Amino acid sequence: MEAMARASLRLPQNVEGDLFVDSTCIDCDTCRQLAPEVFARADDAGMSYVHRQPAAGEERTRALMALVACPTASIGTVAKADTAEAARRFPMDVGGGVSFCGFTSKDSFGAWSWLVRRPEGNVLVDSPRAAGVLLDRIEAMGGVRWLFLTHADDVADHAVLRRRFGCERVMHADDLSAGTADVERVVEGLEPVALDKDLLVIPVPGHTAGSAALLYRERDLFTGDHLWGTEDGTGLEASRSVCWHSWPEQVRSVERLLGYRFERVLPGHGPVFKASSPAAAHEALEAFLALARGPAGRAVGG
Ligand code: SF4
Repeated sequence: MEAMARASLRLPQNVEGDLFVDSTCIDCDTCRQLAPEVFARADDAGMSYVHRQPAAGEERTRALMALVACPTASIGTVAKADTAEAARRFPMDVGGGVSFCGFTSKDSFGAWSWLVRRPEGNVLVDSPRAAGVLLDRIEAMGGVRWLFLTHADDVADHAVLRRRFGCERVMHADDLSAGTADVERVVEGLEPVALDKDLLVIPVPGHTAGSAALLYRERDLFTGDHLWGTEDGTGLEASRSVCWHSWPEQVRSVERLLGYRFERVLPGHGPVFKASSPAAAHEALEAFLALARGPAGRAVGG
């Protein structure tokens, strides 16, 4: 049986009305990214809440997509709304043949998983929650050739995905554990590895020892928890407060990204970053590095 939000746990910060967030929220940010006109963060509680009830139509569908995507089933409706249409919106196209899978998993703290659709075989970046409706949609879109795992925290339902799609799982050796010891393709060291002519695995140790990014068509860089966009959309950031392995190494890994062309950064957590050109993306990298290396570097990201 699907988990459901409970009205008895409704947060007092929610505005009156049908849609609500309950106290099981883990503050993953997914709902706020998907429907900022409806969800906001209650800083005192460290949780999301409904700051405005959605209008009928697209705004309500978007709010229900957040309900579907929530990793902890913390969003609910008093009237028990039908979410089938919202669920069918995933994977959600974000342009360039890339889609956000929704259906985040609490096992990866609500990390975002991305589907890259390509004639030579689709790529799934990190694991969504393996909900049947999502897997059926992915199958209808051509299935999964590779499951690229950016790091140990975001592997969630990788074994279920392997069984369903027969995909080749790709992960860096330094992040393998008992649960991922049987992945089909292991990347080692710091050298980039080409999965195909338009897919390059770039090891970026720092957040974890075996973090890796995936570069697609010299345009999209999937970064896991290595690097993400700033809230205002103008820059790039990473945080030492969520760096589990080595902050100096993470900064060096960001520095090495200057050797690659890309325009979009699609992370596991945090906003997507979109630059107007590869040069503008490099400028954003340089701006982040100047901050990280400078006197304020110790405080970057808190
Ligand atoms: S998606 Fe769910 S867990 Fe994440 S911030 Fe929103 S209510 Fe909380």
